[in-house]
Amino acid sequence: NMDDAMLDGEQSMQALLRMIAGEPDITRVPVMIDSSKWSVIVTGLKNIQGKGVVNSISLKEGEDAFVAQARELKRFGAAVVVMAFDETGQADSYQRMVEVCTRSYRILTERAGMAPNDIIFDPNILPIATGIDEHRNFSKDYIAAVAEIKRTLPGVLTSGGLSNMSFSFRGNDGVREAMHSVFLFHAIEAGLDMAIVNAGQIGIYGEIPKDLRDRIEDVLFNRRDDATDRLLAVADEVQGGGERKAEDLTWREGSVTERLIHSLVNGINEFIIDDTEEARLGAGRPIEVIEGPLMDGMNVVGDLFGSGQMFLPQVVKSARVMKQSVAHLNPFMDAEQLEAGSQRAKGKIVMATVKGDVHDIGKNIVGVVLQCNNIEVVDLGVMVPYADILDTAEREKADMIGLSGLITPSLEEMCTVAREMTRRNMNLPLLIGGATTSLVHTAVKIAPNYNGPTLRVSDASRAVGVVNTLLSETARGAFIENQAGEQEAVRNQYETHKSERASRTLDAARAAGFDCDWRKYSPPRPKVLGITIFDNYDLADLVTCIDWTPFFRTWELKGTYPSILDDPAAGSVARDLFDDAQTMLRRIVGERWLTARAVIGLFPANSVGDDIEVYTDDRRREVACTFHFLRQQMVKSGGRNNLCLADFVAPRATGVQDYIGGFAVTAGLGIEQRLAQFAAEHDDYSEILLKALADRLAEAFAERMHERVRKEFWAYDPGESLGNQALIAEAYRGIRPAPGYPACPDHTEKGVLFDLLDVGPTTGMALTESFAMIPTAAVTGLYFAHPDSRYFGVGTFQHDQVADYAERKGWRLDEAERWLAPNLGYTP
Ligand code: SAH
Repeated sequence: NMDDAMLDGEQSMQALLRMIAGEPDITRVPVMIDSSKWSVIVTGLKNIQGKGVVNSISLKEGEDAFVAQARELKRFGAAVVVMAFDETGQADSYQRMVEVCTRSYRILTERAGMAPNDIIFDPNILPIATGIDEHRNFSKDYIAAVAEIKRTLPGVLTSGGLSNMSFSFRGNDGVREAMHSVFLFHAIEAGLDMAIVNAGQIGIYGEIPKDLRDRIEDVLFNRRDDATDRLLAVADEVQGGGERKAEDLTWREGSVTERLIHSLVNGINEFIIDDTEEARLGAGRPIEVIEGPLMDGMNVVGDLFGSGQMFLPQVVKSARVMKQSVAHLNPFMDAEQLEAGSQRAKGKIVMATVKGDVHDIGKNIVGVVLQCNNIEVVDLGVMVPYADILDTAEREKADMIGLSGLITPSLEEMCTVAREMTRRNMNLPLLIGGATTSLVHTAVKIAPNYNGPTLRVSDASRAVGVVNTLLSETARGAFIENQAGEQEAVRNQYETHKSERASRTLDAARAAGFDCDWRKYSPPRPKVLGITIFDNYDLADLVTCIDWTPFFRTWELKGTYPSILDDPAAGSVARDLFDDAQTMLRRIVGERWLTARAVIGLFPANSVGDDIEVYTDDRRREVACTFHFLRQQMVKSGGRNNLCLADFVAPRATGVQDYIGGFAVTAGLGIEQRLAQFAAEHDDYSEILLKALADRLAEAFAERMHERVRKEFWAYDPGESLGNQALIAEAYRGIRPAPGYPACPDHTEKGVLFDLLDVGPTTGMALTESFAMIPTAAVTGLYFAHPDSRYFGVGTFQHDQVADYAERKGWRLDEAERWLAPNLGYTP
């Protein structure tokens, strides 16, 4: 399967199959080609030797498409998995499973001439024990359907994707393993021929304890109303291999020092206050507890993290234990006129998210990790003007300054901070972090403004090393010199490539713009024109469309969900984190921690050059607002276009009535109160987790609203029916580009959009002076419906376009240069 948003499916399929075709051991094994795109399947079939299996086809798109695909498969001699889907959807009952498979069988054998033994039916394994009544017969029906299909459709094979059935026990591998074994035992007995299984996750039926087996069978065959509850009741006690575990508390028998260290290293905060108190009573002074066991424990954590044996979520949990312990000791230390922290720290850093920006998850994580490494962190929070940062650094006699920011205007603000440091004759190392920062930007744009060392820190796991090195008398000099040398090389390379990078004049780029044949395209008129507001949107609904992959990336766990849960190295940490996330999500939804609000709008619009005019109504006489866009200027080969988002909307001169949409959504209203509560409990872990989840809910909200716009409001694709994976992979028609992103990098356009949709008054969302959104868990963007509309990056652009853009926006040239700084292909 090569279905990934970032892959060219056809090309990757071909490349892999051709590569493995040369391996004798591999060529003996049949290949199953899996894709939801037909063209990828065909590419796969063209590139395999021998007989392959295709996954999958179904009656989803109707009989004719089904027959056409089957005939083509037959021509390739391939076998095929046929899903029990038809025009009305997924078969989810015994009757429908049998009915859809029987009908598919008839069509395949009679109309497409397929041999029965090339047909593999998958009647759909669906999740059970979900708490939803309609799901209770899924397994029972599947097993019965397999038996019936094998009995009545001679020659065919049956299959299924196993792990889906135990989905609701995600995180509890013991129960899942047992459920899989029991399910397979009965399904094979009914005639199941094959299944997609995690071979490492199958136990032996006979070895599952009888009580557990009975409870699973009660669920599987829907034998009693309380079956799910009864399985849940024992689920916590079941661990890998179906054995019951009692929590291992033998570590509680160690000395208080050993117990404190154990709690820290394992991130357990259950006993920390009692143990801290016991240690305090036994110590001469409270500070000895910190300098003794707590520091020892944190050193172990630091070493394990530094050597890659511990992952970020674990470190943040350790920090929580540390902070809660220190918080208990603090009152006793105050009495001694001693302040925890300054006494023991080996260095001090002032950190801030720069003015205009409000994003701080990454900065907070770095802060926690540094604290774990005995660095004192003075965190000034978000939207901090440079004067405050520099005054604080001077007053606190800090060893270094760390700047963070997410949106591109923050890059400019970081340059300002650097310039100011030079003006103040400062010489402290300046550390640069944040997702949009880069080594190139740091070297080319920030460092030249500062006489002292400027260093980019790419992520939290690197931060400790960099800070420690900077604090080391011996290593510091060489390190700074080395970094400066590397930056010099980056600058040289950048300059060289810059002169090599050919670009077109704006006029030439416009001539090469995307030119739709507007006579052949009639834009769909939105069913609902104007603004629609959604207050108090159902959070439970949003949970179902969360894209989890970026969640793990926030915690520096690299990989794709769900496979990351089974990663050999990070899997167990990922599962723990995912469990914690699920637990918190349940509370967010159940206790209404957050409020979600959205506003969407659909309007008559036409393009005028590289702008899009939005009209107040369909008479198109009065312009409500104008969006301004930038155009790619790079030289492109093969007649490829120099794109601009305005190209996807019909030009006014064509007289074609086109439309555009806009949206602003947030899932972060009310978050401050909870965050404050976690801060009071010294619980960084929950604070970061909540912020990360609110971000996920906001992105999910954007996904859901876009889907509803396509189906209900613009309604150009009312019959669309895509699962979450397909939504995440953007398998739908249209795009929702967000200002500040590569196709429309000018953040100030958010201002135009917010005014058009009246976002502030209707939702309570706001923009900072750099056009960051508050709350941070928010997404805003435009809707384009043109079937050819797609995301792209405008890349760098030239002076002619900046001047043109300034004129269109009514800006002075230097204003345009400041807002567009990260994209300039020249030095102003
Ligand atoms: N599933 C992801 C979705 C967010 S990233 C998540 O949960 O985080 C994808 C979004 O980023 C798109 O929907 C679009 O709004 C924006 N985007 C991506 N590439 C873009 C580009 N080149 N120009 C403008 N916006 C872009």
